[in-house]
Formats: sequence, structure tokens, C-alpha cells
Amino acid sequence: MTATDVSPPTLFPLGDGLGSVSLVQSVGDDKMITNAARVSFGGDSNAPLNERDEKLIRYLLRHQHGSPFEHNLITFKIVCPIFVDRQLVRHRVGVSKNEISGRYVEMQERNFTPPSFRKQAPSNRQASVEDDGTLDQAAAARVWEEAWRQAFGAYQELLALGVTREQARGVLPLSLYTESYYTFNVRSLLHFLELRDHEGAQYETRLYARAMAELAGPLFPVTFREWRLLKNMR
Ligand SMILES: Cc1cc2nc3c(=O)[nH]c(=O)nc-3n(C[C@H](O)[C@H](O)[C@H](O)COP(=O)(O)OP(=O)(O)OC[C@H]3O[C@@H](n4cnc5c(N)ncnc54)[C@H](O)[C@@H]3O)c2cc1C
Repeated sequence: MTATDVSPPTLFPLGDGLGSVSLVQSVGDDKMITNAARVSFGGDSNAPLNERDEKLIRYLLRHQHGSPFEHNLITFKIVCPIFVDRQLVRHRVGVSKNEISGRYVEMQERNFTPPSFRKQAPSNRQASVEDDGTLDQAAAARVWEEAWRQAFGAYQELLALGVTREQARGVLPLSLYTESYYTFNVRSLLHFLELRDHEGAQYETRLYARAMAELAGPLFPVTFREWRLLKNMR
């Protein structure tokens, strides 16, 4: 990174160069968590994080003392398909969001195409399984592409006819990319990761969750280490 390069660290969870997670800003660290916990008995300090602090973080996580983890902020810029965003936005507590408006701006031609298609899981009605070789991948890719072309073409046609952006966007599919700033505190981020970096979560959303953990983890190394041990997370 050069001195003039101020672009935030960015990961591309879907591997298509379109979907991304950038770490925009963060506030606080592991020490802030132990200080928030110790203020109860006037024991907060400016001393560097030590073994006692690490033990305290472990204790707080294990006993679900959640509030000391709420004094930090992590802001991501997330560019994701609308179907992923619809899952992210369900996380209501300790999460702030601002999203691009299809009323203000014309939506960009950015479409997520799965690199490979999965099959419906036989037992879990929400889940998917890998293709066992019986799916016609080429046909699925063709149908997806045609649907996207038709939908985005219709959007552009409606705009050309003079239809307002807020109505024309109604023909756009869930694979369209949207972009938002999301700010979590550490408690809400860990809760999010537990639910969304989980085998029950949608694969694409899981990739976003992993990217967010990869960017946020080094900012709170002790908290993430202890949380991963506790939850048996990657
Ligand atoms: C695998 C998976 C499948 C899902 N499938 C569906 C689905 O089919 N349909 C669907 O609609 N949603 C679905 N969801 C979304 C899910 O129901 C939650 O809305 C989402 O995971 C956010 O979790 P949360 O409520 O714990 O998080 P947050 O909204 O961040 O809330 C955090 C915590 O605050 C407390 N809390 C928040 N709001 C309230 C409240 N109103 N009353 C009491 N306590 C509250 C709870 O303890 C909660 O765990 C799914 C989620 C997952 C992970």
C-alpha cells in the first residue's frame, strides 16, 4: 500500500470481483472490553492487555456477559446480491445500515451468477446440497443469464420510456448487487457470525460472514480467539 492509497482492506467473498466486503473503520480493541467490564469495581486501566485481561475476556464470553462487548464499532462496506442483503438486514440489534437507493440512482448492471448450481437438499427444506452430477449446469447458467438480460433490459427500457427509477427497479432480480454500510458492535457481530457462518446458513451469505470475521478478527484478537474456541468456530 502506498502513502496515498487509502482504500480500505477489501475481500471478495464470491470471487467474481463484484461482491465485496471492505473494512471501513473500527473503534476500540480488546482492552476496551476488559475496561468496560472492570469499571463495575473501578478497576479499569490504561495498562497494555495482559494475561488477566485475556482470562477476563474468556470468562465474559463463557458466562454470556455481553454488554462489555458493545463498546466497539466495526463498519463494513458490503456489496452483495439483494438475496444476501435480505438476510443481513434481519440482524436488528446493535447493527446500523445505510444502503444505496434505487430511487436516487440508476442501478448499475451488476449481477451475481453462481459459479456452480446446487440442488435442493432432500431433508432440510431451506438448505442446498452440492450437485451430484445430475444437474445440467450449462442449462442452468443459460437460463440464469437469459433471465438477467431480460430483466435488466426491461429496466433500461422502462427508464428510456420515462418511467421513474422507483417504479422501474421493480423488474430487477434478487441477483442484482446492492451496497450498504453496516456497522456492528463486537457483541452483535459475534452473534451474527454464529448464525451466518454456520452450516445451516445460505452458502453465499456464509462467505460474506467469513470475510467479515477475517477483517474484524485481527482488530480484537483475544476476543475472536476465545470466541472461536468456545463456539468451535473456524
Ligand atoms: C439459517 C437461518 C434461517 C432463517 N430462516 C428464516 C426464515 O425462513 N424466515 C425469516 O423470517 N427469518 C429467517 N431467519 C432469520 C432469523 O429468524 C433471525 O431474524 C435472524 O437470524 C436474526 O437473528 P436475531 O433475531 O437473533 O438477531 P437480532 O435481530 O440482531 O437480535 C439479537 C437478539 O436480540 C433479541 N431480540 C431481538 N429482537 C427481539 C424481539 N423483538 N423480542 C425479543 N428479543 C429480541 C434476541 O435475543 C436476539 O437473538 C433465518 C436465520 C438463519 C440464521
